[in-house]
Amino acid sequence: MATILVSSLLATLPVQAGSISRIEASGSQITISFDDLVEGASSFSLIGPDRIAIDIQGGKAGQGGYATGIVKAVRQGQFNPNTARIVFDLDQPAVITRGSFSNDGKSLKLQLQSVGQNQIATGRQSFLPPIQFRAEPPRQIYSVKMPLGKPRDSVRLPKIYGPSDPSRPLVVIDAGHGGHDPGAVSPHGNAYEKNITLAIARAIRDRLVAGGMVRVALTRDSDEYLVLEERYGIARRLNADLFISVHADAAGNEIASGATVYTLSEVASDREAAKLAARENKANIINGINLGGANQDVSSILIDLTQRETMNISADFAKLLHREAGRQMTFRKIPHRYASFVVLKAPDTPSVLFEAGYLTNKDDVAFLNSRQGRTKVAAGVGSAIESHFARKLAMR
Ligand code: ZN
Repeated sequence: MATILVSSLLATLPVQAGSISRIEASGSQITISFDDLVEGASSFSLIGPDRIAIDIQGGKAGQGGYATGIVKAVRQGQFNPNTARIVFDLDQPAVITRGSFSNDGKSLKLQLQSVGQNQIATGRQSFLPPIQFRAEPPRQIYSVKMPLGKPRDSVRLPKIYGPSDPSRPLVVIDAGHGGHDPGAVSPHGNAYEKNITLAIARAIRDRLVAGGMVRVALTRDSDEYLVLEERYGIARRLNADLFISVHADAAGNEIASGATVYTLSEVASDREAAKLAARENKANIINGINLGGANQDVSSILIDLTQRETMNISADFAKLLHREAGRQMTFRKIPHRYASFVVLKAPDTPSVLFEAGYLTNKDDVAFLNSRQGRTKVAAGVGSAIESHFARKLAMR
């Protein structure tokens, strides 16, 4: 995977910019009207919750919109000086099957169709007005290319285990917490999350090395503290094909149990997921000092700019992880959730955060603390990883 370069175009305001004058969604049809010409539009899908976003190039955002049918609600805002973004909250997973501008370029009609959760398309679809009714793109003054989210060079790269063939996929396993950050602490037998995650990470590594199919590295192989950006930074610098951050959860009661796999979303799938992400993201803050380097604005811009593909691959892997590891261990009722975890923000590395169980639950602690339990976790995670890359190879 190539290093990500984000070009930021510093542009003059467009000569022409049509404002969005009306948005109407009814049944399975969406009509967006403009008071003047625009350059074009493109759409992409977001899951968890299901949404479709439309970017209007050379467009100015208006307000609100009218929605019934598949679309539950409409929001719009100015994404950047030249682009208005409209987000449609969907009642059910749906895709755009057709889209076209009117002959005068002043309205865009989109046709929606309900689909299964796993049929959400990746990538963008573009729609252009007829050439004679298309606004001119703004003149560029200059463009800047800058590497973003560059990890600190001071962090040494870890040893890579497994086949020496560099064409084999590389998986980076991240044992959550470490050093002065113990993570969750269990009331049962004084188990620390940082020790359990390291033991699980090592077990997964050993299982993958024994399988002989993929290469594997650990972000840490000792009781050491790394800030969150350093963790995915290691994966990026190694050009990893997959990143798995291993954690164990804690709840306010002793009943909650089972594993959950999380993937990145700016919008959390539920309140509990949002709270967990806030807790895990706190690993960067020690004595009130934020040790993480990433600028919040830059991180969210990155997520908007890079292909949705990484997030979709991560979600596919999360499903596979539940399918394979679910044979070896218990998962929660909703096994795959979404939230904004800093450690999952590498824009170009498919990443999941795996909460292996609850340290506040006696049975989970006994399972995760035993060699036998960890071997089962490693067997499940290992076969999910191998199926993931076997599937990718087959698709080539
Ligand atoms: Zn954790």
